Amino acid sequence: MSKHYDTIDTARRARPATKSGSPEAAPSRLSRRAFLKGATLAGAVAALTAGPIVAGSAAARAAVAEPAGSPAAIPPAPGQELATLLDLSRCIGCGACVEACHEANGHKYPEPKKPFPKMHPARVKVEDWSEKRDVDDRLTPYNWLYIQSATVTWNGEEREVHVPRRCLHCVNPPCADLCPWGAARKEGNGVVRIDADICLGGAKCRAVCPWHIPQRQTGVGLYLDILPSLAGNGVMYKCDRCHDRLAQGELPACIEACPMEVQSIGPRDEMLGRALELAASMNGYVYGAEENGGTNTFYVSPVPFELLDAAVEKGPGKPHLAPVAHALATEEVLAKAVFLAPVAGLVAGVRKALKSLREDSGGAKPANSQDDAAKPATGADKEERHD
Ligand code: SF4
Ligand code: SF4
Ligand code: SF4
Repeated sequence: MSKHYDTIDTARRARPATKSGSPEAAPSRLSRRAFLKGATLAGAVAALTAGPIVAGSAAARAAVAEPAGSPAAIPPAPGQELATLLDLSRCIGCGACVEACHEANGHKYPEPKKPFPKMHPARVKVEDWSEKRDVDDRLTPYNWLYIQSATVTWNGEEREVHVPRRCLHCVNPPCADLCPWGAARKEGNGVVRIDADICLGGAKCRAVCPWHIPQRQTGVGLYLDILPSLAGNGVMYKCDRCHDRLAQGELPACIEACPMEVQSIGPRDEMLGRALELAASMNGYVYGAEENGGTNTFYVSPVPFELLDAAVEKGPGKPHLAPVAHALATEEVLAKAVFLAPVAGLVAGVRKALKSLREDSGGAKPANSQDDAAKPATGADKEERHD
């Protein structure tokens, strides 16, 4: 359940609370560009260790002034995960972040081979979005971020709230821990990624994700080279937090493109503290701090998430905003995850080796390889098959 933080311990507030609702009224912003862009490795690690850089601070000026030093500029301090904070009171729903995500990640989008193999059993239907790549009102393999909007009345005032939706990069991601093949994994910096070279598209990750975030494209990936009619049905796609940009010392594209500086990013503890502080300042609410045992995405809203959840359109590719229990909290599920970990790791290793062998011998590269360039095209949402 989203929390109302108006009673937050004042010792946690770095600044006096202000009445929120307008960008001007919000607490001073974390700098987007200052987030390690152009920082040296030492500066980057120091910045992450010390917390997000505040706009206009000496640290921010130093970070921007420093020339790019190392492409590996982003690793957070050991034990630190990156988290994002989204101040929904600032979002105007302009979609610049969605566009930026397309531009930055288009080269990772799938290029399916057609006709698709017939599946057995036949109930495993095709999910083809390759002819509907311009769909941007839900999550698809070609749209990893979309804007969910709600009009609600709160405290006698009608408000329109926009919520950028994508993977929340859970602290305990069931999509990764329960992937039978080791294709979905959480990295040391907290980013949860699906390896398109390993994924068979069985959609287990989508089934166990509390928000059903990953989306499948048929006709791409390793299953085509194994048992196309029996194994999997494509590849699953979702936000990878622009891991490649992070590795270059750059901000995720959606954060950088936002004209309202809705998002900020930094070490989880710092960002959680700022989310609570911001919520307190606007007498607002936080989503993501406790959902599914905690995520690395914190939404801060001036109205309760229960209201937003009731007002937003929900369905396939359109996730809810309801309270979420910790998916891996039960012993049964945890035991399954522990059992799968070494098996999935082994399978992932074997698949990687097979892929290398095939490429070395001149075999075809999977159509969805991360290296493939994107080309235009459309699809349909249908089916489940859980490995
Ligand atoms: S770019 Fe910023 S203001 Fe525009 S929709 Fe995205 S998060 Fe909201
Ligand atoms: S939101 Fe869903 S897809 Fe994203 S990390 Fe959590 S469980 Fe995985
Ligand atoms: S972090 Fe990157 S991949 Fe994720 S929604 Fe933003 S731009 Fe897209």
